[in-house]
Order: sequence, then C-alpha cells, then structure tokens
Amino acid sequence: MSAGVLILGGTGEARRLAAALAGRPEIRVVSSLAGRVNDPRLPEGEVRVGGFGGPDRMAVWLRDQRIRAVVDATHPFAERITASAVRATELAGVPLLVLRRPGWRPEEGDDWRWARSLEDAAASLPSLGRRVFLTTGRQGLPVFAGLDALWFLIRTVDPPEPPLPAHHHLILDRGPYTPDGERSLMREHRIDVLVTKDSGGTMTVAKLAAARTLGLPVVVVHRPPLPACHVAETVEAALTWLHTLL
Ligand code: NAP
Repeated sequence: MSAGVLILGGTGEARRLAAALAGRPEIRVVSSLAGRVNDPRLPEGEVRVGGFGGPDRMAVWLRDQRIRAVVDATHPFAERITASAVRATELAGVPLLVLRRPGWRPEEGDDWRWARSLEDAAASLPSLGRRVFLTTGRQGLPVFAGLDALWFLIRTVDPPEPPLPAHHHLILDRGPYTPDGERSLMREHRIDVLVTKDSGGTMTVAKLAAARTLGLPVVVVHRPPLPACHVAETVEAALTWLHTLL
C-alpha cells in the first residue's frame, strides 16, 4: 500500500513539493488548501479544500487517511494552521516537518523599519509618510482602517471585506512582480512608504528592490515564531526528510 503524505499548502513551495512527489506510486500525496482564494493555483495531484475543524479533527482525518507524514508548507504568517498541525500530529503520532522559506534580509541601500505586528506597523505609519503601499494581505486590513489622514494603495488577491481605510485605491493582483513594474506602480501613485510582511521567497520580492531604488522606507512585519519541531527551508530538504522517513 502507498504511504500517505499530507501537504498543508497555499504556497509555491507546497505546489513544488506536490509536483516533485507526483508520479511516485509508492507515495499518495494529498495537498490541503484553506479555500480562502476564489481561484487558487492548484497543486498537482489529489487536493482537499477547507479547514479540518481544529486539531482534534485533523488528527482523526490523519488516522482515517492513514497519513504517514505531514509537511506544513503553509505561509509563514499562517499561524493557526501550523499550531493545529503541531497538535494534530502529536495526537495522531505522525511525524511533522515545517517547510519555511527563509525570511528576507535587508541589503545595502535599504531603509527597513521592523514591526512586531500589523498593529505596530500601522502605528508607525503617520511618522513615515502620507501615501502608503499596503501589501500585507486581505485579512489584516481592518488594522489600518482608522488611519484617516493617510492614503493607501492596497493590493490583494481577492477583494477585501470592510472595514478598509477611508482613502484608498485597490488593485487585485497575485504576482509574480518585476522590480520595474513595482517601481512604476510606486511612482505612479507617489508612494512614500511600503508595508510588507516578511514573507520571504521570490514571488513578491520585487517591491523591496523597487523601494530600495526609490529610496523609500519599508515597514517589515516580523514573522511569528516557529514551533519546536523539524524545520526545512527548501523543497529539496523536505524531499530528503520524506525520503529518509518513508
Ligand atoms: P491560519 O490563520 O493559520 O488558519 C486559519 C484556519 O484556516 C485554520 O485553523 C484552518 O482551519 C484553516 N486552514 C488554513 N490553512 C489551511 C490549509 N492549508 N488546509 C486546510 N485548512 C487550512 O491561515 P491563514 O493565514 O488564513 O492562511 C490561509 C491559507 O492561505 C494558508 O493555506 C496559507 O498557506 C495561505 N496564505 C496565507 C497568507 C498569510 O499572509 N496569512 C499569505 C499567502 C497564503 P481549521 O481550524 O478548521 O482546520
């Protein structure tokens, strides 16, 4: 019988891992998506969509599906599903690997201001400029809603729900982006300051190069801490972990 592997997804790394494991009959790979995005980029192979209903139910699902290993390849800021995966794999007695791409690091010429949270990022903005490029995703937008003296260029994948900042322009896009495109966008909208999560990876990194060349400050929100478990930074390292395990 083939060994079951659950990939908790929603990232490019999760899709690359699923693609690398596709076509291996000795492994049955199930990729799991939260179902937040209307038209998600689907991984290769078997996919399930929607929450599990918490860690206890995820543990039951793992047992029912005879899952032998879980790779949490979710976004570095998807804290709840990672905590759920830690608890569920403990309950079900299944090994867990967290696949987290490295965070971004400032380069020569960068003017980064680290923030501990979205709330801290919002509090820092009035002293940094009036026109803000906000790229922290749909879910955290209410945190910025009270900043009526500022204007926001908001970019999200799907349309956000209110409350939103009073003065804003919305762009729906999912990348990948280029430094030239990002620079033009920031110039066109006369941006003073960029706000981003420390997501890492290549898909959305171009905005940082654009801010550097334009000499703009960037508010970078720190990642939540990783749980105490096996962690890999690359898809290749995750494949090695799976290979050793299975
Ligand atoms: P979250 O706050 O950590 O999770 C909230 C709940 O959504 C979880 O408790 C779980 O529901 C469900 N869930 C999340 N990811 C899931 C998955 N891969 N498969 C099945 N259920 C999942 O997550 P989030 O920040 O809303 O992110 C949702 C998804 O979007 C994740 O898959 C993540 O990789 C992706 N994403 C997030 C961000 C970000 O900035 N947060 C950015 C890009 C992509 P139950 O408790 O019912 O199991």
